[in-house]
Amino acid sequence: MSLDLKILNGNIIDGTGNKAYVSDIGIKDGKIVEIGNLSSNLAKETINADGYIVTPGFIDLHTHYDGQISWDSELTPSSIHGVTTVVTGSCGVGFAPCKEKDREKLITLMEGVEDIPGSALSEGINWKWETFTEYMNAIDSIPHTIDFAMQMTHDPLRVYVMGDRAVANQKATEDDIKKMAKILREGLISGAVGFSTGRTDNHKSGRGEDTPAAEASVEELTGIVQAFKGINHGIIQAVSDFDMLKGDEFFDKEFDVLEKMALVSNKPLSISLMQRDQSPNQWQWIIKRAEEANSKGINIRLQVGARAIGVLLGLETTFQPFMGFPSYKKISNLPLEERVRIMKNPEFKEKLLKEKNEKLAGDGSHIPPLADILLSQLDIIGMRMFKLGEKPNYEPEIKDSIGYKAKQKGESIIGALYDALLEDEGKALIYFPLYNYTEFNLNNLYKMINHPLSLPGLSDGGAHVGTVCDASFPTFMLTHWCRDRKGDKFNLEKIIKNKLKT
Ligand SMILES: [Zn+2]
Repeated sequence: MSLDLKILNGNIIDGTGNKAYVSDIGIKDGKIVEIGNLSSNLAKETINADGYIVTPGFIDLHTHYDGQISWDSELTPSSIHGVTTVVTGSCGVGFAPCKEKDREKLITLMEGVEDIPGSALSEGINWKWETFTEYMNAIDSIPHTIDFAMQMTHDPLRVYVMGDRAVANQKATEDDIKKMAKILREGLISGAVGFSTGRTDNHKSGRGEDTPAAEASVEELTGIVQAFKGINHGIIQAVSDFDMLKGDEFFDKEFDVLEKMALVSNKPLSISLMQRDQSPNQWQWIIKRAEEANSKGINIRLQVGARAIGVLLGLETTFQPFMGFPSYKKISNLPLEERVRIMKNPEFKEKLLKEKNEKLAGDGSHIPPLADILLSQLDIIGMRMFKLGEKPNYEPEIKDSIGYKAKQKGESIIGALYDALLEDEGKALIYFPLYNYTEFNLNNLYKMINHPLSLPGLSDGGAHVGTVCDASFPTFMLTHWCRDRKGDKFNLEKIIKNKLKT
């Protein structure tokens, strides 16, 4: 038999948890047909994997490729990090079902929530669908280098059924709920792998509105998931900040809502887990409630990030420290080169640094209120901002921060942030870890990743293109967590079995 591909001398970690071993692999028609002594010397292609690890493809269960998947067959950057299956339709946002008149509405929503440029979506999406089944068929008709599984999403479903009433403060009627359940059921039967909903105050549409399903009642959520009755597959994914901004006393009430959805649907529920500064112990409560639910037979899984969830700041990204300062606002539309030239002028710098951030969030703005809170205290958050550089360190110590270094030298922190932005001709990036970094290390994240109920799942592949790129999480899990990290590490066999090959 002649093979299509031979992979020789690789250090094979097969995903079973067994110890790595050096061997050869023969592939024919897209399948592994031999491991060990290959029966044939003939192969169309040979890869010498001496000194490399060879693993199964990885699954990224939380992405936002819903638009990109309709025009990009390669689904980069996920595919270049060893991901062979992406799950789309996360957090309640997506593009189907959708009536013609609502297309712009869904684009504005995705633009605001996931920071995907509306212009790219408008130009890229061909809208060869109205129903979810038509959407899946349209995507299926385009060849893709990797596999994908699609969840149906709450916001488009709500807009499809409720039209202009699909705004956060409007309750769905009994009839609306029945219709949404019926449409979800049709989607599930056609092959949707689940249903997702978004309940966070940090997600805003491109016009600054709450997402349509953000305040959905327990009746609506439990009513919609009736759709799963008698269907043998499917999961539910939800993102919530557990009403943290309203106060920690709301935590259990919100968890109850999510748990009820899992109970009624009798399907696994997957929710986000992270440490948030505003409520630093919340992650432990989430774990505790998930453990309790599982002991009652309610299957709840926790999606964790591979590193701190943060933003990259720079003159070419969506956010940067001075974006709300009046002098900067005046030049914000100029080409990069021009802005850098003006900002290098000492008089401009002096004037700008005396100013204050003007409010960016609010009516008509997709910028979350958290941004204004942060930008009004640059002197403090500068202690948690780091130069990213060519070789990023995603677990830096406080002494590495721009703010700390400036303080040590007796210099102004905001002046140092300003100068950092201008490095590399204005192309330099500042790393600002927002979540999972309350204590300036990833020790708590280690505990989260190590938890038996957790799965890596917050890559947000395809989204937040102007702020972050965590689609590289499989590579980061292998390099940082299994090789480079100082402190607790994982072993490759375990991380590949339990965390990357779900
Ligand atoms: Zn998401």
